[in-house]
Amino acid sequence: MEKGWRGLPYHTIAEHYKRIFGEKVYKLPVTVVDDCPNRMGLKGMKTCSFCDVWGSAARSESFEMTLPAQIEKYKIEIGEKYNSKKFLIYFQAYTNTFTKVPVLRANFDTALSYPFVKGFVLGTRPDCLSKSVLDLWQEYNQKSFVAVELGVQSFSDRDLEFMRRGHTAKDSIDAIHKIANSTTVDLGIHLIFGSPDETDEEIIETAKKCNDLPITNIKLHNMHVLKNTELEKWHAAGLYQPIERDLYTKRVELFLSYLHPRIAVHRLAAFASRWEELIAPKWTSDKMGTHQFIVDHLRHTKTYQGCKLDLITTEDLFLINQMKLRIEPII
Ligand code: SF4
Repeated sequence: MEKGWRGLPYHTIAEHYKRIFGEKVYKLPVTVVDDCPNRMGLKGMKTCSFCDVWGSAARSESFEMTLPAQIEKYKIEIGEKYNSKKFLIYFQAYTNTFTKVPVLRANFDTALSYPFVKGFVLGTRPDCLSKSVLDLWQEYNQKSFVAVELGVQSFSDRDLEFMRRGHTAKDSIDAIHKIANSTTVDLGIHLIFGSPDETDEEIIETAKKCNDLPITNIKLHNMHVLKNTELEKWHAAGLYQPIERDLYTKRVELFLSYLHPRIAVHRLAAFASRWEELIAPKWTSDKMGTHQFIVDHLRHTKTYQGCKLDLITTEDLFLINQMKLRIEPII
């Protein structure tokens, strides 16, 4: 916790995990697939406009490594960096349900064979959720922690087209309900702010939609331009300008103001894993500086998660008051 403050003015993912596990756990990002429906061009789909050749993988070297080798290497690196002992295996890159069930099962078994692993987290898309995949998640969720992070990215079909996601906002909402109705996995979504024509009203609507969905967490990203992406071409041609830090910060402020404090937030902005591939905006390369800039802004404007919501239940009020305390410095 930062000196002089009772915590960050939003519900952090670390708090969410601490409540579940009773201690800190860290994610070990691994790569076990190298494709997705967009990249394969299924049903005429195209690679997402912002996605580079690594499919959002944290580390390019992991493509050459077995799953056990990745787990063992990153456990040492991340364990030393954060002094952590317990981990979740994060199947992050590409679409982690876009493969056969026996392969998924083998990967899950490998992950859970390590005593320091408390469960796993899967990144996937709203349109890769067969019944057999959902059944498999539920089977593993009976014996371990299973979390799913769904790449929703936006609830605006205009923005989804710009991103070339190949699914609609309704597809995402249907997928969220499908997962929640058939499993008990810990469900989160990813959102990207900064598409052209995005408005403040849409940000508020997005927060309100999230409040009504059976999700426990959200990961926020600003749209950034990476090398070898469609977005790079649009940026070079002057057709796309990434969102400035000040405007993005105001969007985060607005979003958090209307987001119910029961929903945990992973992080406040995108951070490229390979800086040499970042074209723009340059401010996003300053990982800690960006985080602190947004947090300072929230404190300066007395903004905390859910501060603009009309909350009525006692439980709501309890949560909101906890958040409110965090914008008051400890004297
Ligand atoms: S963002 Fe995900 S779904 Fe889109 S092209 Fe990249 S790996 Fe595929």
